[in-house]
Amino acid sequence: MKKKILTSLFVLMLSLFVAVQASAANNTTRLGGQDRFDVSINVSKEGWSTANTVVLANWDAFGDALAAGPLAYKNNGPLLLTKADSLTPRTKKEIQRLKAKNVIIVGGPISVSENIVKELRGMNISVKRISGNSRMEVANNIAKEMGKASRVVIADGFNFPDALSIAPWAARNGYPILLTNNKHNLESSTLNLIKSWNVTQTVISGGPLSVSDQVYKSVPNPKRYGGNSRYEVSANIANAYFKNSSQAFVTNGQVFADALTGSVLAAKKNAPMLLIQPNNITGTVQNSIINNGYSKFTILGGPVSVSNNIQNKLNGDLVGQTIVVDPGHGGKDPGAVGNSLAEKEIVLDVSKRVNSKLKDSLAKVVMTRNTDTFVELPDRVKEGEKANADLFVSIHVNSFTDPSANGTETYYNSQYVGAESKALAQEIQKELVKAMKTNDRGVKEAGFYVIKNSKMPSVLVEIAFISNTNDAKKLASASYRQKAADAIYTGIVNYYK
Ligand SMILES: [Zn+2]
Repeated sequence: MKKKILTSLFVLMLSLFVAVQASAANNTTRLGGQDRFDVSINVSKEGWSTANTVVLANWDAFGDALAAGPLAYKNNGPLLLTKADSLTPRTKKEIQRLKAKNVIIVGGPISVSENIVKELRGMNISVKRISGNSRMEVANNIAKEMGKASRVVIADGFNFPDALSIAPWAARNGYPILLTNNKHNLESSTLNLIKSWNVTQTVISGGPLSVSDQVYKSVPNPKRYGGNSRYEVSANIANAYFKNSSQAFVTNGQVFADALTGSVLAAKKNAPMLLIQPNNITGTVQNSIINNGYSKFTILGGPVSVSNNIQNKLNGDLVGQTIVVDPGHGGKDPGAVGNSLAEKEIVLDVSKRVNSKLKDSLAKVVMTRNTDTFVELPDRVKEGEKANADLFVSIHVNSFTDPSANGTETYYNSQYVGAESKALAQEIQKELVKAMKTNDRGVKEAGFYVIKNSKMPSVLVEIAFISNTNDAKKLASASYRQKAADAIYTGIVNYYK
């Protein structure tokens, strides 16, 4: 008997432990370090236990290295960095760890000196240098080294973001990256290369200010991925080529080194390279994460490049979740009216505020209406089914003939996943009462259509009474509407915890 109790206690503790483990979402891997050398080495360690071939580039001049990602990928080896005069000791150690037999240096002796070549040969490594009179020529020579391809990629040779955003896709498919000159045009040697290869499609990364329209008109079957910023270009490339990936690489769009060395690993993992600001994911990139459903992230660089705030955001419980926000009523159906207020207007406003909080946590939100329109109840339920939603939250305000009735209540239904729905209702109710300072009328079961027929955890929230003077004052106030939205949001977050 005693043993049985102990066993069940053990099982209980084990399940608690598992629950705790599961609640701390861990969607991110950070490949960071003190500096870009560390990052490149950590990328290398993550991607390769050994590698026959390593590509080596200068640590602070991106010109020669911009096109090197696809070359490294083709050789199934990492791209490592060195200072120009002598092989950076940490990089040397990493080359030894990889047991590399070949090193391909990209760039001339000013980028990576002859001393380094000697040092590598002294390590019994065979060395090949790919150089040229300009970065455009280096890129052409890298392309030739990779071999003839049916598609090529063109990017700005004098700024790095667009080339690095497209690098994982180019690398994965074996397409070389060719570069424009400082006038954003192609050198004749590059055009000749494209012609001689009978290229069938030219993919241009970046807008006309990076790769000119003249280039666009002179290459075979061009396809351009532009954008208003480097961030947008990276998002547009992800949207075009990495729709079916579940993971993404995230890096600071202002520095080249981490994106450069990380691009080879991103290619290996079939992940896009998303560029962000150290403490901000711009709107288009955020939408790309949400709409493509990325739920695993590799962060390139330390917390100065990509802040811990961003990492926490990517680690959030709502990442990858789809949530229906259902503002009640609308159009010809005003819902409850009273104290010069209409329910349909209040709940749409609160719902929009909930929507923006959820999106900021990288959840995908489906609004059953965004404007003052009438939507039938079955259509609201269908929206959730269509989106294969994880949660359904219907937002209403209450009314009663007796104006003294007041307070907050949240409903669930037991038809499908009653326990989960009830738990969600309790979390939201608790937060709403606290935030709105309303009378706690509790969590109740009811057969409202949208919660009875939604198969996922679903609740219907009655924020407060429009028919009560005190409650109505709060419902009329923008700051209380925000409080209500924050509370609903926090309730959802707590439910996931
Ligand atoms: Zn209602």
